[in-house]
Amino acid sequence: MLNPVIANMLIENRHHFMISADMVATVSENNPLSHAFLVLTKVRYAKIPVLDHDSKFKGLISLPMITETMLGLDHMSFNSLDTMTVKDVMQTEVATIDDPYDLENVLHLLVDNPFIPVVQDGYFTGIVTRREVMKGINNIGHNIDKNFPQFTIQVQHPDD
Ligand code: AMP
Repeated sequence: MLNPVIANMLIENRHHFMISADMVATVSENNPLSHAFLVLTKVRYAKIPVLDHDSKFKGLISLPMITETMLGLDHMSFNSLDTMTVKDVMQTEVATIDDPYDLENVLHLLVDNPFIPVVQDGYFTGIVTRREVMKGINNIGHNIDKNFPQFTIQVQHPDD
């Protein structure tokens, strides 16, 4: 189990720990690939969540998943962007969490994933990103001695 003191410091800025769904760029599973292509190009995120019309989480989509469909043997075709939809190419095997503050699980999953979708009863409620967790770790690194003076070390000066 993660040490509760470390866990508390990690989520001290609880307010920012999870990025709520309304702040996350998403596409619908029924959008044409051309729309997802535009969104991904504009937001500049590598991968974004895919939802259905009820805001239920369905998967993730990235630009390479789309451009793969454009590759012919010796040329690129844009036809697939209008004839195929997001659900035709999205990644459906995705690690999700239902409790963003289950830090043991969050830290474990963030080793291999830059972000984890938070899904509660099938509904997409936000993401936890490696970036926000790194801020928490930065906070621990800089402030642990303020909470716990025993973590302070006396630096010996060479002339002493
Ligand atoms: P970061 O740790 O902020 O670099 O985010 C890691 C990944 O999380 C990004 O590459 C995106 O795939 C995803 N992500 C972060 N913030 C958002 C957002 N507001 N909307 C959609 N995806 C995001």
